[in-house]
Amino acid sequence: MEDCIFCKIIAGEMESEILYEDEEVIAFKDIEPQAPIHFLIVPKKHIPTLLDIEEGDNELIGHIHQVANQLARQEGIAEDGFRIVSNCNEAGGQIVDHIHYHLLGGRNLQWPPG
Ligand code: 5GP
Ligand code: ZN
Repeated sequence: MEDCIFCKIIAGEMESEILYEDEEVIAFKDIEPQAPIHFLIVPKKHIPTLLDIEEGDNELIGHIHQVANQLARQEGIAEDGFRIVSNCNEAGGQIVDHIHYHLLGGRNLQWPPG
């Protein structure tokens, strides 16, 4: 946890462009955007991977979807469409070991992903 960059952003020890914050969740712009709109929705609780989500986290995970809903509208991409992605472990492309949900939009996103 000590070396976790997202925990540092949550603690205010590292700079980020924050779009939203409440007691449970923070959302900030991705430092390397892959689309015109690209931010990360991150639970403040340090959960390393999707595989570490416990039953007690169900409300938190649902809340993240509510935040995504709200922010997609706020950023003006709700109608056109957008994507939420959570990468898990190496083959899934996870680099930061603190779960996060990418919210991407503002262009036509391809499927399947690379
Ligand atoms: P992952 O590959 O783990 O799903 O995604 C990690 C994401 O975090 C990447 O899109 C990367 O650009 C972003 N990221 C890594 N370090 C930082 C940082 O220090 N600040 C911000 N805002 N984003 C970061
Ligand atoms: Zn963390």
